[in-house]
Amino acid sequence: MFVARIFTLYPEFFPGPLAKGLYGKALVEKIWKLETVNIRDYAEDKHKTVDDTTYGGGSGMLMKPDVLAKSLDQNIKSSEKIIYLSPKGKLFNQNLAKKLSKEKTLNLICGHFEGIDERVINSRNIEEVSIGDFVLSGGESAAIVLLDSVLRLLPKVLGNELSNKEESFENGLLEYPQYTKPQIWEEKPVPNVLLSGDHAKIKDWRLSQSEAITRDRRPDLWQKYKKN
Ligand code: SAH
Repeated sequence: MFVARIFTLYPEFFPGPLAKGLYGKALVEKIWKLETVNIRDYAEDKHKTVDDTTYGGGSGMLMKPDVLAKSLDQNIKSSEKIIYLSPKGKLFNQNLAKKLSKEKTLNLICGHFEGIDERVINSRNIEEVSIGDFVLSGGESAAIVLLDSVLRLLPKVLGNELSNKEESFENGLLEYPQYTKPQIWEEKPVPNVLLSGDHAKIKDWRLSQSEAITRDRRPDLWQKYKKN
């Protein structure tokens, strides 16, 4: 069973959308489970303080290393992967999602305020991962994004194994356009080739659509695709 363990000041945010649909079913089937650790429970003073002012000045607060480290040390076994969701982390992508889906247990730290004390990151072998070049107010929504993309890669979560193989990014390209019934909607027909029943032709059409869309919208992906 895949274990997602979330370190957060807001455990009530979880499992949120991850309890629904496919993932809710996979929870019941014990394909994965979610644990939350409330970092505040590890504060030692009577006010349960988790943050303090930053050395060197600045208006923001920072999560205290002693409290955070204690919450980690009492819940994580050595050798488990620990990720801190952070805008200065390595950029998350489908490849990293695949790698993370092979872990048995994934520990995710959700920051708040200005973030967390740098010394914890180094002393506990924590990897920083960013979900994009923008700043959120806390790591919880980032953790949900990361888990959403990892969980669907676990064996048996998606009913149809094929679903994964044809998705955007799987072959380095964005997905081709897709259509369902009705065949004519607001006077717009679906592309003829899709009604032809000619599988080779459909495959070619989809590939050329994928290529055109990728070239147009994502020159960065297009360059990489052409090189391979
Ligand atoms: N001072 C930090 C921003 C802190 S934002 C900086 O400038 O880098 C507060 C928290 O939100 C962070 O601790 C992190 O856990 C989360 N967060 C913000 N943006 C994020 C992003 N792009 N990816 C992942 N987590 C993010």
